[in-house]
Amino acid sequence: MIEPGGTLGIIGAGQLGRMLALAAARYGVQVHVFAPESGPAFDVAATHTCAPYEDEAAVKRFAQACGVVTYEFENVPRRTAELVAAHALLHPSPRALAITQDRLEEKTFVAGLDIRTAPFRAVSDTAELSQALSEIGQPAVLKTRRFGYDGKGQVMIRAQDAPEAAWAALGGAACILEGFMPFECEVSVVAARTAAGGFAAYDLCANTHRNHILDTTEVPAGLSVAAEREALDIAHRLADALDYVGVLAVEMFVVREGGAERIVVNEIAPRVHNSGHWTIEGAVTSQFEQHVRAVCGWPLGSAACLGRVRMTNLIGKDAARWRDVIGDPQAHLHLYGKRTARPGRKMGHVTWVWPDEA
Ligand code: AMP
Repeated sequence: MIEPGGTLGIIGAGQLGRMLALAAARYGVQVHVFAPESGPAFDVAATHTCAPYEDEAAVKRFAQACGVVTYEFENVPRRTAELVAAHALLHPSPRALAITQDRLEEKTFVAGLDIRTAPFRAVSDTAELSQALSEIGQPAVLKTRRFGYDGKGQVMIRAQDAPEAAWAALGGAACILEGFMPFECEVSVVAARTAAGGFAAYDLCANTHRNHILDTTEVPAGLSVAAEREALDIAHRLADALDYVGVLAVEMFVVREGGAERIVVNEIAPRVHNSGHWTIEGAVTSQFEQHVRAVCGWPLGSAACLGRVRMTNLIGKDAARWRDVIGDPQAHLHLYGKRTARPGRKMGHVTWVWPDEA
């Protein structure tokens, strides 16, 4: 347990680390950010270390300076995570990280709990790809096992496509082939779990993407009560099975079967998540506060939702929209302090909350 005044280490300096650091500051917790390059979290952290993940002396010094360490992205190298864990408490655990940073490990883990995923096969060469396609069928989606995000590291193989082109497009990396899910919509559950097994999930979020990047999150998601319950229950079971400490997000597809909505798990993010940004103004306790509480060993806050909510990302040139948004009395504007608005870059977000009638 770390007390107010203690130091929380955050690996990664992006906007998620920045919003975590702001939440930690609210609780009087000092933040030390470790990242190989300068980023938005450096601007708001008490201390930062800018060094490569392979710089073992720097990683060790960082871990020793922190009461507890967490991370804001799942591609922390395994060796770095283990080194941190040898010198500090690391939450979520290296095991949770290892499972969730590899799509094959992750899907195998989820399916092993009898939770539904798209059909999948491991693929490590073109012969295995042809075999997997003959079993799963086309259309299918070929994804690299590691380092994929925002649609990067994946290609669709439609009915008429040649598998060799897909294989070449991903550069021969170890892959997973997934059956294409004809989903009605995409949803996510953002939830927190403590070491003592305390659990709190936010209301189900409905997510729409533009160019494979999250565009808008809306709450309520508008699913049936049964489907929402199934989604929240899946997140709870996954968090327990990972013995998870912190906030996680479970991305899911909603498919219709025999007239009913059914949930299929796509991916687990072992961290705070873009589809949970709305909780800053739209819930009693934000996902960032919740994560700080969980990793510091404190009880969770209420995840109750304060009304109807919409969150929209400001991506690339959209950042210029801040001038319109700033005049909207209902809008909560967040800008991440990034200097250049490259296409596809998350520059900020806006949340609207329409409070529940008392
Ligand atoms: P991912 O990187 O796994 O989160 O995938 C990015 C996006 O690609 C998802 O949000 C879906 O819109 C789409 N997608 C990924 N996997 C599948 C699948 N098996 N079937 C249909 N669409 C998918």
